Amino acid sequence: MNTNKILQADLEAYSLDETKIADVIVDSDMSYEEAVLNGLPKGCPEEILSKQVILEVYYLSFDGKIHKGQIVVDERVAKEVQEVFTVAFETKFQITSVIPISKFGWDDDKSMDVDNTSAFNYRTIANTDILSRHSRGWAVDINPRLNPHYRKDGEIVPPGGIYEAGKPGVLVEGDAIVKTFKKYGWGWGGNWIGEKDWQHFEKEEV
Ligand SMILES: [Zn+2]
Repeated sequence: MNTNKILQADLEAYSLDETKIADVIVDSDMSYEEAVLNGLPKGCPEEILSKQVILEVYYLSFDGKIHKGQIVVDERVAKEVQEVFTVAFETKFQITSVIPISKFGWDDDKSMDVDNTSAFNYRTIANTDILSRHSRGWAVDINPRLNPHYRKDGEIVPPGGIYEAGKPGVLVEGDAIVKTFKKYGWGWGGNWIGEKDWQHFEKEEV
């Protein structure tokens, strides 16, 4: 049931063979129900829900080991997001963890606090009633503690996050992840004026 909603990673794209796979640390191995439906905040329209898929992804984490995780996005951006993760892997860009936000009770603060990378989250933009692009699976946050959001009002989220370009896991203009997203027309919060949401990439629905 719903297994067609879980898209396997292309091991060849990651140049992963069976010996390497045997040592992989699994950070997330959820079913569709666990990742998308459990505890989903009320009000998510079927039109949005029906398009969400779970991508299996591999990444180099900060323990120097290969990890396997999952990220929930709109099926129409699945290929692009998969490419971002293979490019990150190729360039040894370190990612802390990639676990669907349902694991955190749909609480972005909890996910950000532990630097977890995620995408789909049916929620409004903090302090507004506007639906975030995360609500539609058209936005991705990468290493949010290492790439915090410097808000217009001066607040930094997650609290205690510091953006330090040049450190591992920190996104900078021209790096492989930023380039790959931009190649497909995604905007990066690191380019915003007046505030910087270094972790955040989003694309307008086509
Ligand atoms: Zn975001």
